[in-house]
Amino acid sequence: MLDIDGSRGEGGGQILRTSLALAAITGKAFAMRNVRAGRAKPGLRRQHLVCVHAAAQLCGATVHGASVSSKYLEFTPGPIAARELDLDIGSPGSTTLVVQTILVPAIVGGLGLRATIQGGTHNPMAPPFEFLERVFLPHLRAMGADVALTLDRYGFAPGDPRATGHGQLTLTVGTGVLQPIELLSVGEVRARRATVLTARLPTHVADRELAIVRARLAGPLETAVRELRAPAPANVLMLELERDGGRELVTSFGEKGKRAELVAEEACTEALGFLDANVPVGVHLADQLLLPLAIARGGRYRCAPLSLHATTNIETIRHFLDVPIEVTSDGDAVIVQVG
Ligand code: ATP
Repeated sequence: MLDIDGSRGEGGGQILRTSLALAAITGKAFAMRNVRAGRAKPGLRRQHLVCVHAAAQLCGATVHGASVSSKYLEFTPGPIAARELDLDIGSPGSTTLVVQTILVPAIVGGLGLRATIQGGTHNPMAPPFEFLERVFLPHLRAMGADVALTLDRYGFAPGDPRATGHGQLTLTVGTGVLQPIELLSVGEVRARRATVLTARLPTHVADRELAIVRARLAGPLETAVRELRAPAPANVLMLELERDGGRELVTSFGEKGKRAELVAEEACTEALGFLDANVPVGVHLADQLLLPLAIARGGRYRCAPLSLHATTNIETIRHFLDVPIEVTSDGDAVIVQVG
């Protein structure tokens, strides 16, 4: 059984999700100590537990220590055999992080999978649905995966408890084998899109956010405002930059007491920072590409210097796989070379 220290590096939930995915793929069992020791509320939260259950159901694993607040987990996988999963986080915890746990194993398993996941679809500290659908999955499809993700219902967090379980995603994975890709060059910006999601808020919130975005992002801008039915107020601003060879999507969340202008300023600063860095791969995509590339045993991409999240992810992958992952400087950026 591999011995994994969950407090290493960032000490967050990614060590767990990557370990679950790689255990299912490689058939290697692991024991994890100090689960999420680097977080304010350490141990397994409900969202992480659903990741454990999802991976366990996918590969018929035997699990010990899977309870809320547990800081120790043992996971002994079996063969990937499930073709259908029906998962409910039971809170507005992130459904996309559950997708992150089961997606690559389902591709490698090659049996086809349909998974419905209920919970939050737009959560701070997690990819919103649109990031997976418009930024991450196109690269996976380019690598050879047959994968579709649909947003059945929006689910926002944090929200009041009445918001529980309102969101739902459906993930469908067909057959396909992951092949290496290279993302090194930076294409022309072809489109900029601003999307505002609001629920139970006055219409001026979206107007004020879009006014700031128009002022700060020079050039043509496509805009969309979606007023959604939700049990509690919600506001999410997403800015998408489409370039030849890939997209980036940055997200900013409104919250009670936070001015709409600030929500927009945060998203614009991140979007402009990405354009200034002149790299094809943004900070979040940089950590999310590591697992599929490691499974493809090859690939290269250029991005800003890696986050602690990404370097911790590399360390976790090294527990399970002997594939080389090298990071070299390239001016103000880095090149990540897998294989
Ligand atoms: P925790 O221990 O709190 O669960 P974590 O280890 O899950 O933390 P996070 O920093 O919350 O780590 O990140 C989770 C994942 O969500 C990472 O893959 C990260 O790239 C992704 N992510 C976070 N924010 C965004 C965002 N705005 N857009 C796209 N992806 C994001």
